[in-house]
Amino acid sequence: MPTLLDPVLDLLTLRGTVTEAEPIAARMRRLRIEGDALAGLDVRPGQQVRVLVGSGLTRRTYSVWAYDPSGAVELCVLGHAGAGPGARWGGGVEVGARVRLGKPEGSFTLRPGAAHHVFVGEETASVAFGAMLAALEPGARVSGCVETETAADRLPLTHSERLNWLTRGGTSLPEAVRGLAPEPGGIAYVAGEARTVQRVRQVLVREVGWDRRAVLTKPFWAPGKRGLE
Ligand SMILES: Cc1cc2nc3c(=O)[nH]c(=O)nc-3n(C[C@H](O)[C@H](O)[C@H](O)COP(=O)(O)OP(=O)(O)OC[C@H]3O[C@@H](n4cnc5c(N)ncnc54)[C@H](O)[C@@H]3O)c2cc1C
Repeated sequence: MPTLLDPVLDLLTLRGTVTEAEPIAARMRRLRIEGDALAGLDVRPGQQVRVLVGSGLTRRTYSVWAYDPSGAVELCVLGHAGAGPGARWGGGVEVGARVRLGKPEGSFTLRPGAAHHVFVGEETASVAFGAMLAALEPGARVSGCVETETAADRLPLTHSERLNWLTRGGTSLPEAVRGLAPEPGGIAYVAGEARTVQRVRQVLVREVGWDRRAVLTKPFWAPGKRGLE
């Protein structure tokens, strides 16, 4: 239903319509959003969009899982316990729903040409990793650790066989990175729950000898906090 805010929102957001909504993993739903306004955007692998979720002006941020320059953005939204407006929107939105979103943004992006790409994070981070891994040049060196609640929560990632997959409650991400001890000289992409991101960064920089500038970090959520961006 049109509202008085629509003209303002038209200036600030891009409009699209959900054309596909289906499970892509046990607790993850893939949403395809299409629209003329979504054609020809500048999207770098790993970038995110801010989506207006639910009613009103609540925004939540989602990584771009896939982009079709003819005018489609795909997102994957996790249905986490204690779901807030974002997870409720992602779990309930149906084909045909109108969506408003911002332009792709952010600097947590693939660094093409790096000697080695190391990916560390959990379910939410694996969405951005999916876009980055799919964009890697042939022959790129890849490793990393991805933690999920269960094996059924794993996204189908390009090069997934080169990643160490962990199940929550077993080896933690910082311990797994300590064990992996990737040789410094590449780029590490570390995202997901805020404290874990910091711990993994400490392991890479203090224990494994990585240059801190080579460790890209992005907290995606934190217990007790609402919509980090
Ligand atoms: C750059 C960026 C990219 C992101 N990309 C994605 C993405 O691709 N897919 C995606 O699903 N999310 C992604 N997120 C997280 C997303 O923006 C929301 O924070 C998430 O959907 C939770 O929103 P909510 O409204 O359901 O919960 P909120 O109202 O924001 O939070 C309520 C509570 O739920 C808990 N919570 C939040 N997230 C989780 C979680 N993952 N696991 C367990 N408990 C949680 C916390 O305790 C929090 O206090 C991204 C965030 C950022 C900053």
